[in-house]
Amino acid sequence: KPPKRNDNREPPETMFLSDIGGLDDIINDLWKLIGRPLTDPEFCLHTRVQQLYGIVLHGPPGCGKTMLVKAIAQDIGVPLFSVWGSRFMKGMYREPEKKLREIFEEAYEKAPCLIFMDEIDAISPKWKGAEGGIARRIAAQLLACIDDFALRKTGGKPVIIIGATNQLDSLDPALRTTGRFDQEICIKMPDEVGRERILRMLCANRKLQLSQDFDFKRLAKRTRGFVGLDLSAMTSLAISMALKRFSATAKICLPPTNSLEIPVIPPLDGMDVN
Ligand code: ATP
Repeated sequence: KPPKRNDNREPPETMFLSDIGGLDDIINDLWKLIGRPLTDPEFCLHTRVQQLYGIVLHGPPGCGKTMLVKAIAQDIGVPLFSVWGSRFMKGMYREPEKKLREIFEEAYEKAPCLIFMDEIDAISPKWKGAEGGIARRIAAQLLACIDDFALRKTGGKPVIIIGATNQLDSLDPALRTTGRFDQEICIKMPDEVGRERILRMLCANRKLQLSQDFDFKRLAKRTRGFVGLDLSAMTSLAISMALKRFSATAKICLPPTNSLEIPVIPPLDGMDVN
């Protein structure tokens, strides 16, 4: 029976920074911004570093923004509070604002911690559009929650808010100011080298036994336009195809673990495995 979730914290997820491929520079930048303050709150106190700040991760879908935040929280071992933009806009009158206040209250109590706001442009859009009333109220509540931190006593322990969006331009400029979200990091589509690293990581994580001459470089070249999500889906598809082919010739039993060890399977005649 899964444990009952009685707070806004994320359920534990086994996702680590070492599972992510091709984002080393971004991970280094984020670690400098987040790692030290969150793991060493004394550092914030003594250096008088700002104790609340926001970072916006932006870039195309499927490039690893969400996975990066989850992995960072997991690696550092701090609570992660998540808010999903589009889901947030639904709800009874004044309910989204209440929920937002509750999440920030709980996060401030549990500092040091991270708050992740996915699709932040839906929570605080530049153009309030047809849903102007509710969008304006939630955006105002978000600004109030952030500005309210100055009145809180967290004993110098930081709370870092990470927003993620696919459309930075759609974000309310009021959020992109000092003391709110003043750092912006772009996670671009992976280039050929990035795709190769992601593919190597995906295969290593799934413990695939590949033939010695498996040509990752060639595969990376041929997957132009693929993001991490596509490469992950492609790897899963390749695994299931290999399993089908293998089980057609031999009876196999999957090991009772999360790892999938697929025997090296020779390519079918005339088939280009790369
Ligand atoms: P969206 O903007 O749609 O929310 P996103 O940028 O947050 O997308 P994720 O949800 O983090 O993307 O990525 C989806 C999945 O793609 C991940 O769970 C992971 O399986 C895979 N993936 C993406 N990028 C990488 C990467 N760099 N290394 C390994 N896997 C990746």
